[in-house]
Amino acid sequence: MIKESEALNEFRTIRKNLPEYLKKIDKPVMGYFETYVPEEIIYAAGMHPLRISPNDRQIAVGGSKIESFACSVSINFLDQLLNGTLSFLKGVIFSRYCDSLRAIADIWQENSGDSFYHFIPYPTILTVESINFLSGELKKLVNHISGYFNIKIDEEMLTEAIRISNKKRLAVLKFYDLIKKGKIVINSADFFSIISLATIMDSSEYTQKLEQLMQQTELTDDRSIENSIKVAISGIMLESTQFFEIVDKTGMRMVTDDLMFGSRAFKELVIKTKEGPYHAISKRYLSKIPCSTKGNIDLRIDELIKDCKEAGVKGVIFYLVTFCDSEECEFPILRKRLQAEGIPVIGLEGGYRVSSEGQFLTRLEAFAEQIGEEL
Ligand code: SF4
Repeated sequence: MIKESEALNEFRTIRKNLPEYLKKIDKPVMGYFETYVPEEIIYAAGMHPLRISPNDRQIAVGGSKIESFACSVSINFLDQLLNGTLSFLKGVIFSRYCDSLRAIADIWQENSGDSFYHFIPYPTILTVESINFLSGELKKLVNHISGYFNIKIDEEMLTEAIRISNKKRLAVLKFYDLIKKGKIVINSADFFSIISLATIMDSSEYTQKLEQLMQQTELTDDRSIENSIKVAISGIMLESTQFFEIVDKTGMRMVTDDLMFGSRAFKELVIKTKEGPYHAISKRYLSKIPCSTKGNIDLRIDELIKDCKEAGVKGVIFYLVTFCDSEECEFPILRKRLQAEGIPVIGLEGGYRVSSEGQFLTRLEAFAEQIGEEL
């Protein structure tokens, strides 16, 4: 009988009781919505960077404030901002990411009152000029935070924040590697919980818990998951525990991902450059495996194919958030490239939470049967 991992149970508890965890954070909390906002700058300011995730509540006010082209994830974000769910935040930082979030940023700018608000105009390409441009914009962000909260943020503080974030990234990458190599066997729902918390929890606490978890290779007594069918899950803002539980119910198991807050958020480190920390941070964020909102699809697909091969994946589940135009554009190309590599793909579409479990379950069971036969 294996003693269930204490660290795993702690991660599960935090994920299930996120509002409780957030209440206990003893620093001012700064919110952001996607992983292009550099958490290093928020840490350097002595604040807690919180990636805001869609919650389970039914949308109430957000939908009436925005054009119908906006996706349900962004409407949920707006709802949380307007209905007071996020009133504990000291401020919110947006960056140029997608049209829906751009609209949310504009609405929130009008409604944020005295709360800190900042928008980072973000280049999409990686060139010497774009790195310099982003460095300048990040300096403006630091000046804005410093002036607004009357705090000092110097290069030494930034360097320390970079060290903390890089340490977390290395731990997360090691975790992915252990799962890919089969040295840690974990179900999709737990894998999702742990990874999604990396940009929600305090970085040092998270890294410590993850390192503790990785010391124990057998995390649970559940032997059934060892023979499950290995899959990758691709998408952007798929943050529904229920969805990952459905995948587990079908006998499939996520062993790698291609998600905005997942592997794409950790693959690059901030490497010191002679131009200083702003330049180093800018270079890192512009070199990230790109989300569909940023273009350069080849880089994303090449990386996904590499991960699938390394992890021995039998199929890819792609989840499209309805009205997410950039994902809708990339999916056919992604599917074609994966199929050319002999990797079957299923595309599912839905909102920020699973509304029809039965439908997803049936389609995923059929996919599991298909790729299971091809083993
Ligand atoms: S799901 Fe797509 S459209 Fe919606 S907020 Fe995320 S990136 Fe933007």
